[in-house]
Amino acid sequence: MVDSSSPVTLDMISLPTVRIDLNVPTLDRIIEALLPELSNNFETVSVDAVQCPNLTCSPFNLAAEGLNGDEMVIDIGSPSFLLPLVNLNKVYDIRDFAKVTGTDPLFVIGAGAGPWPHVGVNCEFIGNVRLTSDDSVNNNNSSHLYKVDPQTGSQVHHRLPQDETRFALLANFYTSRGMTGEVLKIVCETRNGPLDFVTSIRKALAKYFGDKPVGLGGVILIETSKVKVHVMPDFSKIPLDSEADLNNWLKFFEVSTPLVALGYLVSHDPGLDLRPQHFHLFGNHGEGGHYHHDTEPTTVKYTAYLNVAKKLIRVDQPETALLFGKD
Ligand SMILES: [Zn+2]
Repeated sequence: MVDSSSPVTLDMISLPTVRIDLNVPTLDRIIEALLPELSNNFETVSVDAVQCPNLTCSPFNLAAEGLNGDEMVIDIGSPSFLLPLVNLNKVYDIRDFAKVTGTDPLFVIGAGAGPWPHVGVNCEFIGNVRLTSDDSVNNNNSSHLYKVDPQTGSQVHHRLPQDETRFALLANFYTSRGMTGEVLKIVCETRNGPLDFVTSIRKALAKYFGDKPVGLGGVILIETSKVKVHVMPDFSKIPLDSEADLNNWLKFFEVSTPLVALGYLVSHDPGLDLRPQHFHLFGNHGEGGHYHHDTEPTTVKYTAYLNVAKKLIRVDQPETALLFGKD
């Protein structure tokens, strides 16, 4: 267990913040970029512009209906605050995002390190929050976290209470007004190439759009196959100085589907020490974690609803970049 004395949540408007305009291609051009490349990794591929289904419904169970309005991606913190040893001062709150995005209502989904002051140990965070300044409307916090039971080594799922919107260290979110609208629907079945679903989308965009960064965020449903994930155990007391140290410390699991993944990907880093892609999974059966790849490629089926971010906001970029820990 970490020290139970709770740190002060950092005031987001006092943190260094960089805003950039992303390249915002039409959905038709993104479809043109994705189709040939996804076909190199999956036997069956379809990419279409569709009206977003109601994401508050099963199997998605998100905090808002759609992915549209004021679309942005936020990269906050860094693996540098976890490695080689943790910086316990790095605690943030999704409630502060309205101050940096100006979005109201604000729908936030994505992947990061969880609120260890709430649960007592380091953990994986799946943010799924809709906030509004209108007091007549209920806010909705449907966030999840996964931690490792130190006794058994198994993973443990928690739903977060409505008023617990903190997270820690590093996170990657897609934010919008949560309105319904036109989005990309990507369906891929039967993987026959080397790249996982998220990496194949990111690399396809990078190949087509080059150094003009395109950001996509949203939800991915994995209905079949099992999935390799990791869940962070409690903070290491010995320094983790390399990728090998890190992988030795992380707890890896092969988890069952169906699973829902939330996060974003960005096709090119314009020098902001970005995490290029980050998705965390949750499921009703109690399993989840940080997405690596499917483990039964012959049966896997992915269905993603993603939208295009117009802006990227980089918050609390460390002065020194870490050269590992972003997989
Ligand atoms: Zn993660």
